[in-house]
Amino acid sequence: TQTDALGRIRALSQDVVNKIAAGEIIVAPVHALKELLENSVDAGSTSLEIIAKDGGLKLLQISDNGHGINRDDLPILCERFTTSKLKAFEDLTSIATYGFRGEALASISHIAHLSIITRTKESSCAYKAQYADGKLVPAKPGQSADPKPAAGQIGTRITVEDLFYNIPTRRRAFRSGSEEYAKILDMVGRYAVHCEGVAFSCKKQGDSSMGIFVPVNASTIDRIRQIHGSSVANELVEVKVSSDRWGFTASGWVSNANYSVKRTTLLLFINHRSVESSAIKKAFEQIYTIFLPKGGHPFIYLSLEIDPQRVDVNVHPTKREVNFLNEDEIIETICDEIRGGLTKVDTSRTFLTQS
Ligand code: ADP
Ligand code: MG
Repeated sequence: TQTDALGRIRALSQDVVNKIAAGEIIVAPVHALKELLENSVDAGSTSLEIIAKDGGLKLLQISDNGHGINRDDLPILCERFTTSKLKAFEDLTSIATYGFRGEALASISHIAHLSIITRTKESSCAYKAQYADGKLVPAKPGQSADPKPAAGQIGTRITVEDLFYNIPTRRRAFRSGSEEYAKILDMVGRYAVHCEGVAFSCKKQGDSSMGIFVPVNASTIDRIRQIHGSSVANELVEVKVSSDRWGFTASGWVSNANYSVKRTTLLLFINHRSVESSAIKKAFEQIYTIFLPKGGHPFIYLSLEIDPQRVDVNVHPTKREVNFLNEDEIIETICDEIRGGLTKVDTSRTFLTQS
């Protein structure tokens, strides 16, 4: 009865708990995509193909040519806290920074229909499996839930359908698929710039033209050119700096004083994960105030590798912002380097025009 429901405290079922947690981790399709991208890159892939329908809400599919997943691991693949990347608690400091500790696929399986086809190089065939709420389920009612042999290349294809189908309020909150698709292109573009030696493609289902296409052997500048255009790719200065004292190395490409746009593009990677940092963005924008006309902003791609022990483990998995030790010193060191690089380009140009 009503009084009962209001009067007594009861534990939520595990299923409800998992669904709530998943909905907090995967807020939009792009969050699922980022996890799938990172998994594919972690699997040593040199080719990633992404297909989306309705901004990833109807369909999100990513196919890679990585090492695949062993058939015997498929039954526990989508359980929470199952991972091949973390064994001891001590590893946690170095690996769990960006959140998921074996939670990504589990989370997705609680709020979408997830299916997989995967093949390792040891296996003579691929295996197909479907998941719901963390567990294997049959493809059709009445069939067995066990993974089925199938034809397929070495690698993994993960298909996520009907994201948020069981959270109708969330599903309805997405007005346009095109906004979500734009976020997907942005995220794929970030990894496509960062992951040298990996080919990327991304398109809408049914489209013949690609939203993003980067061939495997493209250099970093070529990648930036493919995705952000020649106007920026022609005006880049390389940045390379490291410090034993602060335990980091940084490398990347930044636009010079000839390039100026209304909004900053910052592609920031910390230990090969795409992250946001308002502190870093602000510091970089500050440098450019002396080089660019008023209201002008730069393009910056920066890959930062920090001794994992110095990166603060995030309290909550959804935090895309990161904190690390000696943040101020590290940012300052990088800013000095960028400022130096820009000044050099600036003076050599002045020199050229004068002579
Ligand atoms: P995590 O990445 O934190 O380990 P996930 O839930 O994202 O957790 O993935 C669970 C495990 O599934 C991974 O540790 C990995 O062994 C395997 N896996 C997931 N995606 C792929 C993939 N594309 N290729 C190979 N293995 C994968
Ligand atoms: Mg993962």
